[in-house]
Amino acid sequence: MTNRKIARFLAENRPKTPCLVIDLDVVEQNYKRMRELLPLAQIFYAVKANPMPELVDRLRLLGSSFDTASRGEIDLCLGLGVGAERISFGNTIKKERDIAYAYERGVRLYAFDSEAELRKLAAAAPGARVFCRVLMECGGADWPLSRKFGCTPKMAGDLMVMAKELGLDAYGLSFHVGSQQKDLGQWDHAVGQVAGLFALLRERDVDLRMVNLGGGFPTRYRQAVKPVEAYAQAVMNAVTHHFGNSIPELLIEPGRSMVGNAGVIQSEVVLISDKGLEDGKRWIYLDIGKFSGLAETMDESIKYRIRTPRDGGRTGSVVLAGPTCDSADILYEKTDYQLPLDLAVGDKVEILATGAYTTTYSSVGFNGFAPLKAYCI
Ligand SMILES: *Cc1c(COP(=O)(O)O)cnc(C)c1O
Repeated sequence: MTNRKIARFLAENRPKTPCLVIDLDVVEQNYKRMRELLPLAQIFYAVKANPMPELVDRLRLLGSSFDTASRGEIDLCLGLGVGAERISFGNTIKKERDIAYAYERGVRLYAFDSEAELRKLAAAAPGARVFCRVLMECGGADWPLSRKFGCTPKMAGDLMVMAKELGLDAYGLSFHVGSQQKDLGQWDHAVGQVAGLFALLRERDVDLRMVNLGGGFPTRYRQAVKPVEAYAQAVMNAVTHHFGNSIPELLIEPGRSMVGNAGVIQSEVVLISDKGLEDGKRWIYLDIGKFSGLAETMDESIKYRIRTPRDGGRTGSVVLAGPTCDSADILYEKTDYQLPLDLAVGDKVEILATGAYTTTYSSVGFNGFAPLKAYCI
């Protein structure tokens, strides 16, 4: 899978490496496909996946709404002309003064997962629509978002009752099944849990109206993933299975699946060495590493595909590492990566499907290496 537009940009402009190139037309295709496959769900793009203004603006023009986590992300969206009614303040960990700031600018949709956060919302965003995030196990996800976010279903029920008592609009429930989720069954389980809570809360005079299905749709890395159609089908089956004919308003917050496959990182081989060890593995050092955008290689969780100009010939096992003076800056050591035996210092390699969770994960300049430069085309 070669993206010709990106290949041409790299050939014509010869940008300094490392750099990320995003093809906005791919983002647009991803958005339209999601729109078509889940017509009942309002799409809130998870800005944290890639907050480049050109990208956010393209999604704004397409009609997307936005899931934001901070004052900075809210300002970014508002500054591009996104209406406040299309912004959700979806982080469950907010300062009260940032809630007040968002409220003043018209944002009326907020997440929470604890009593203390709910009280902040009641004080700083009176009458706003709120939704409680329910804890999920995140089994099957390569990048789980478990434990840190959400509360038990029982607590979520009690908090929604309290939300109503505090004068807030007890709007709905949310969950996130974990990022790069490969088990389609996770949505059925999650939707089943929230549907049960809808019923319980109706008995307590709280009529919820919305389910926020979170993110979790994958991008293809080394391993093939099921097509987005299969995910959309699993989600809609789960919703109709558990809600029957009274389907609530649906929100979905794709991040990775919206931008991951739209980006390619170009990097240069800085050094190839052999440590004289028995395993005979070559160490390949790139000019990008964990601190310059590839943080999701932590625990070798996300396994990117790598393309070299010498693909096709004989290959051998390698350890891949970044350029900094920190031994944590190893990308893949346990995972078997094979690269061409004639790969040479100075070769340009491409790291595929790197549009999500890269630029903003790069340090401001650890060891004097500049933050990851990125281009939208
Ligand atoms: C990060 C995040 C997302 C995006 O998740 P993906 O798996 O990248 O689609 C969605 N919702 C919330 C609340 C998030 O924190």
